[in-house]
Amino acid sequence: MTPEEFRRRGKDVIDWIADYWERVEGLPVRAQVEPGWIRAHLPERAPESGEPFEAILRDLDEVILPGITHWQHPGFHAYFNSGGSAPSVLAELVTAGLGVQGMLWITSPAATELEMVVLDWLAHLLALPAHFRSDGSGGGVIQDSASSSTLVAIIAARERALGGDGNTRGLAHGPRLLAYSSTQAHSSIEKGLRAAGLGSEGLRSIPVDDAYALDPTALRAAIAADTARGDVPTIVVANVGTTSSTAIDPVGRIGEICAEFGVWLHVDAALAGTAAILPEMQWLHDGLEYADSYVMNPHKWMLTNMDCSALWVREKADMQRAFSITPEYLRTASSESGSVIDYRDWQLPLGRRFRALKLWFILRSFGAEGVRAIIREHLRLTGLFADLVEAHPEFDVVAPHPVNLVCFRHVGGDAVNRHIMETVNESGEAFFTHTVLEGKLTLRLAIGAERTEERHVRRVWDLIVAAADAR
Ligand code: PLP
Repeated sequence: MTPEEFRRRGKDVIDWIADYWERVEGLPVRAQVEPGWIRAHLPERAPESGEPFEAILRDLDEVILPGITHWQHPGFHAYFNSGGSAPSVLAELVTAGLGVQGMLWITSPAATELEMVVLDWLAHLLALPAHFRSDGSGGGVIQDSASSSTLVAIIAARERALGGDGNTRGLAHGPRLLAYSSTQAHSSIEKGLRAAGLGSEGLRSIPVDDAYALDPTALRAAIAADTARGDVPTIVVANVGTTSSTAIDPVGRIGEICAEFGVWLHVDAALAGTAAILPEMQWLHDGLEYADSYVMNPHKWMLTNMDCSALWVREKADMQRAFSITPEYLRTASSESGSVIDYRDWQLPLGRRFRALKLWFILRSFGAEGVRAIIREHLRLTGLFADLVEAHPEFDVVAPHPVNLVCFRHVGGDAVNRHIMETVNESGEAFFTHTVLEGKLTLRLAIGAERTEERHVRRVWDLIVAAADAR
């Protein structure tokens, strides 16, 4: 493709995306295909000769689009949302155009330094403690996912607990390392423990209270008992916004326990952290002064397309101890001078994408006030939906809704709730999912898509009531 052809085709593709966004509301939210449909419509082998671009775009419409679940649809209320704002998509295009691989400062100084700057901006906007800013001993880094961010934190905590021995000698000869999180913690924590060698059995699942928040008394008792036995409590993962119900753990009280026993505190605010851009929601970050690391995902609720997970750590040195290996071919004068960050030392892979551009484009295009207005409106709509549920005699809100998720149930039991969910989801107008709370199937409705307006929230509620009435 010549630059001239690229210019032309690029405009076609931008038009395609803009048209898609304009018509997405009219498409069924969930993909309507049976398993295997897409494969059956694709050739078994790659083409030997290049095809016309029109043919590719035609198949995008005819073969790929039917297999897409529309996360940017205003009726998308499932799981947690995934961003995709226009400035973010344009930045992604520039990232691809530059084709930078930013493993070392020298491999593109702007990639590293912009990442430091935008994460300092974000730390300021989210009222994170000063120890996470890059002008001190800590700093932020962009990972591909909260799962990776948490794995990085676990490995860094492991190496701090073992003085670097885990990396050199492995875990076989050391003490038993243990991790703690609530019964409501995301599965990425157990997965991270498996990958880091602590194993699923290294996770102590701490009970929760009526609001699904970790019980600090039970946490302290567990850590004290394990310490007395000679095991090494290594990391506590506190949740600010659990996946099931957006429960908020008491981070300050958990932090005091971590400080008492010298345990790494990691805070998982993958979804809810975004809300702290609002001054009135910054209580979400109470207690973060104790945290050694903290993760939130701009790619969930902060208008950013996959992938972009922001991780901050208290000590840069913990990252280097855990992740730095320098073969000759990666040695550079700038790295040796100690005056730059090489982000390869803050993650598992060597190579890395230039993701900071997305945050830079978003924060500059919307401005902090623009982002706040969207998040504030989502919170208002969440409150509105919860009020609609509460006002209905046959439905109950069954968990606190501090951010943008409402957990609710029809009084008729699991089968009725499942029927309601499937009926609404089959309508194509909206899509939401479920969890289990108190052993009961619970409907969960998230409000975090950029295009969701009050009329969409009222419509999904009408569909829910109609499904309940028609059974
Ligand atoms: N932590 C929480 C609280 C989550 O809700 C999720 C995903 O929804 C994750 C971690 C994992 O996020 P990711 O897909 O970025 O790994």
